[in-house]
Amino acid sequence: MFRCTEKSQSGLCPALLRVLWTLRFFTAISFLLLFNHAALAEDTSDTGNPDLIHKNWEDTDSAKLLSWSQVNVPKDKKTLRLQLGPEFQVVRRGEFLIASDLDSKRFDYLINGVFACCREIMGREFFKRKPTKVVTVYIFKDRNSYTNGLKKNFGMDPISPYGHYGHKKRYIVVNYSTGPGTLVHEMTHALMAEDFPVAPIWISEGMASLYEQCRVENDSIRGEQNWRLPELKKTIAQNGHTPLPELFASNTKVFRMMRESLNYAQSRYFCLYLEEQGLLRKLYARFRDTAKTDPTGVKAIEYVCGKDITTVEREWREWVLKQKWVKPK
Ligand SMILES: [Zn+2]
Repeated sequence: MFRCTEKSQSGLCPALLRVLWTLRFFTAISFLLLFNHAALAEDTSDTGNPDLIHKNWEDTDSAKLLSWSQVNVPKDKKTLRLQLGPEFQVVRRGEFLIASDLDSKRFDYLINGVFACCREIMGREFFKRKPTKVVTVYIFKDRNSYTNGLKKNFGMDPISPYGHYGHKKRYIVVNYSTGPGTLVHEMTHALMAEDFPVAPIWISEGMASLYEQCRVENDSIRGEQNWRLPELKKTIAQNGHTPLPELFASNTKVFRMMRESLNYAQSRYFCLYLEEQGLLRKLYARFRDTAKTDPTGVKAIEYVCGKDITTVEREWREWVLKQKWVKPK
């Protein structure tokens, strides 16, 4: 059990960035994986409607983001090894080309345990289409390695202290000291990007942040309560949350620029709510398959829930207020 006390370099709500992350395996019929991803305003994944997303990015800021879309990302083992040097192991797992300077024991556990397990289950339960192009994954063992590695290999400072997924060049960067949940979060984006390329940001970040802390049980993946709950409960109790249809209609710019941490929490806890009702997989499939005429997902939600969105929102709010999360010691 480890405590992560990384502080936000973005300056956003640093108090909430002190979280515990744990990783536990139980090798019984059911086994449990628990891991936390310590990010709040963590990544800048550009899954979603590419035109919309990139337009929003250009609108929002950011020389940093646009520069990141220009980086050189090797797509074969030899070139990746040359880029990173002998301290990094490089392996290929299907469409993922993975490099890391973790020690062999932790790397093996992360790749052949956490990564392989989540990829297999997510592929079976959600994502029909696998990535067809290589996704290059950089897992840096700690903060220094992460910061120095990005500077040396890309000439860039980190966008966030945790990691991010870049769709245009298909890569993931991870600061492993923020927990293995960071890798799960970003690989969710990489898998969804191929399967549901026009996914709006609420479901992209909702599902990615749902599985940043999860358990694997009976060969299925399930989100767990996490540190995003207290802010959400407080806001809902004060009736200050964003109405769900408004959240679902948010584009990337609005989602990230206006109450970002709350938007993450609402999206995550709406996905967890659906999962606990046994409806998340149905919703995801329905939404993906009907997004052309239902770009926000409201119709798909009403269909799978069998209720209008006003009723769904009221029942979701009541459910959220009953949820409990105990801050790990
Ligand atoms: Zn994300």
